Amino acid sequence: GSTIGILGGGQLGRMLSVAASRLGFKTVIFEPGGDCPASHVANYHLQASYDDEDALKRFAESVDVITYEFENIPTSALDILEQIKPIHPNREALRVSQDRLTEKTFLQGLGLTVAPFADIPDRAALDAALDTIGTPSILKTRRFGYDGKGQARLKSPEDAEQALADMKGAPAVLEGFVDFSLEISVIAARSQDGQVSAFDPGENVHEGGILRTTTVPAKVPARLQTDAVLMAGQILNALDYVGVMGLELFVTPGKLIVNEIAPRVHNSGHWTQNGCTVDQFEQHIRAVAGWPLGNGARHSDVVMENLIGDDMDRVPDLARDGACALHLYGKAEVKPGRKMGHVNRVTS
Ligand code: ATP
Ligand code: MG
Ligand code: MG
Repeated sequence: GSTIGILGGGQLGRMLSVAASRLGFKTVIFEPGGDCPASHVANYHLQASYDDEDALKRFAESVDVITYEFENIPTSALDILEQIKPIHPNREALRVSQDRLTEKTFLQGLGLTVAPFADIPDRAALDAALDTIGTPSILKTRRFGYDGKGQARLKSPEDAEQALADMKGAPAVLEGFVDFSLEISVIAARSQDGQVSAFDPGENVHEGGILRTTTVPAKVPARLQTDAVLMAGQILNALDYVGVMGLELFVTPGKLIVNEIAPRVHNSGHWTQNGCTVDQFEQHIRAVAGWPLGNGARHSDVVMENLIGDDMDRVPDLARDGACALHLYGKAEVKPGRKMGHVNRVTS
């Protein structure tokens, strides 16, 4: 059988490993951290840093194909890995999604609508952008943000000084605040021969920048659900993408605005584990391994809820609830804001 190499040892890497294992693959995890969620289930954990060239080479040589669970892989590491084994999704997908400015420019180029945005290298640029975009708006670091980190909201131009200080010198973009009625996401996959399959859009609720729940079906008109799925297909094709991608959207009257894309399996796709015959993790493994995609049609309605920090106290109750499927990540230490697991409540 063949072996799949996964960069990153968090919960996404763990669930990818489980899916790969079910299909008869072995997995090797590359992760600098020690006791990580994926290391408990992968066949091998190569613990090394991303600037250890020898370790990167050994990793690539020990696998047949390379994928990843996070988008912030250093370019220097990718340069080494791609000489040895194929990387899916490809470099272009990573390049586009690693940087919010590149990402928004790319999406706009496809004719999709994004929030008004401006490149903010310095204070003068921010003052100029506040004249055009105005407030309310959000200043976001171009790179490395997740779970709402690296963001500052501006209620009025007087917030400019503090917002810029919050960026800690990192290059940023200013985004106009979108007055959305709700947020949805589409998780979609593309195979090596160009087959595309999208899961039903899920409705997302965030709390403090962190995803709280995803509900399917989303309470969005069928027409907009179709728009959302077609947008995902368009992006996948434009990038000649192989694997699963997450597309986050804001719903406004009659129109969808793209928030961001993630070149990987996505937290808002966890509901597929108990709502579909083939879930996002298996779909991703199928794609990167060169298999045909599986059946991602939704057979059940699901509410996925993240278990964050002290939510773990509810696990004994949830374990007694016959409607709930628990997915816990095996993280040793509970910390506020840390994603410890999730629960899929099958509602019909
Ligand atoms: P993720 O963990 O999804 O990668 P992130 O740190 O990249 O999150 P965003 O998705 O950019 O952050 O923003 C987090 C949340 O903040 C969004 O899901 C949305 O609720 C809100 N938000 C972000 N940008 C805007 C905007 N321009 N207008 C309105 N709300 C926004
Ligand atoms: Mg993001
Ligand atoms: Mg997001």
